[in-house]
Amino acid sequence: MTRPLRLVILGRQGSGKGTQCARLVAHYGTVHVSTGDMLRAAITEGTQLGERADAVMKAGNLVSDDIINGIVGERLGQDDILARGVLLDGFPRTPNQADRLEELIGVGGLDLAINLEVPVSVVKSRMVLRGRGDDTTEAIERRLALYVKETAPLLEWFAARGLLVEVDGLGSEEEVFGRLVSAIDARR
Ligand code: AMP
Repeated sequence: MTRPLRLVILGRQGSGKGTQCARLVAHYGTVHVSTGDMLRAAITEGTQLGERADAVMKAGNLVSDDIINGIVGERLGQDDILARGVLLDGFPRTPNQADRLEELIGVGGLDLAINLEVPVSVVKSRMVLRGRGDDTTEAIERRLALYVKETAPLLEWFAARGLLVEVDGLGSEEEVFGRLVSAIDARR
């Protein structure tokens, strides 16, 4: 039996990552772990985590590595992920989080990191259209700037380990999905 898939998907906010993740988990049967979704759920439930994350997210800042590494570490040890593999979405976001991931699943524990590449100009107009509660113009600008500063170095982190694949995120949903599946299947 082949080992369950363990993937990371990277991409600017508004790159179509969410839509493609839903399709990928349906296709491969892996578990979708989105740190953004986990944080939004915590806010809705009014947990202590939610209270701490709420203002940070509204401002378009990153939640602290300690908090994020804690919630992901706990989640990755659960049985469904051990059995079915995982598609990590929105994590890691910083080099510190990437180091933690390597500790958690081991060097060689990850199959692939996919960067879904969509130009900034396209992403901005998509995000405005999406109109989510935490998508104020200021927050969008801040997240895009943070992406360059904090997340782009991750591309180098993954590339240095031979794990990075760039996938063109422009085109129809179907076209992009086809490219993602080809990239993943080429690694299995
Ligand atoms: P997302 O749904 O991935 O766009 O995440 C929404 C917001 O949640 C981000 O703008 C951050 O404030 C926070 N967030 C999600 N994932 C992380 C992470 N890995 N590290 C820090 N903050 C995160």
